Amino acid sequence: MHDIPRLILFPATPAGSLSASVLTGLLQEIGLVGACFDAGSPARFLAGEAFLNHIVFLGCSPAIELAADAGGRIDVSRVTHVVVRECPDVIVQTGDNTRLPGCPHCSEPLHGLTEWLAQSWVYPALWPCRNCDSEVDPLTLGWRRTLAFGRLFVEIWQVYPHEAVPGNILLERLTALGAGPWRHAWLRGPAPVPGQ
Ligand SMILES: [Zn+2]
Repeated sequence: MHDIPRLILFPATPAGSLSASVLTGLLQEIGLVGACFDAGSPARFLAGEAFLNHIVFLGCSPAIELAADAGGRIDVSRVTHVVVRECPDVIVQTGDNTRLPGCPHCSEPLHGLTEWLAQSWVYPALWPCRNCDSEVDPLTLGWRRTLAFGRLFVEIWQVYPHEAVPGNILLERLTALGAGPWRHAWLRGPAPVPGQ
């Protein structure tokens, strides 16, 4: 599974203490998620009865598959479903579509930054701009919704960039969990592998 298009929601406060169980409880209560079909790490849920109220598809008729096939199998590389990912440490998720931001001080592209984030960044390390030597916080740069970070993620798999956005009620309910406002991003490419 090398190309997982996904809409990712995450709290803007990267190292908050919100737990996956509290988060999952909310997602079940509001009907974003239905049955859990993989209780592993990350946990996977089928779309709930109110999924399309909370995830707003921008096209007129989204071609999405929400249920198991006739044999009861769920192909996670095809079926639109919800992944709740909880990590022990703050991680970043980048994708093949991640847009390299410019340095906030000299505006030059921050070459090397994306590779560093994917391979060796540890929260809350700063990146020295190769052009002007300013230290920049990668989490505050203008990634145009192509980077996600934190310990806790709600990922809607099989949603392509800009195909859907989180609804206002979903964002309000997530914010009310107390971890601050939530953001969203769209990524394409491999998903993180737990334990790596
Ligand atoms: Zn610079």
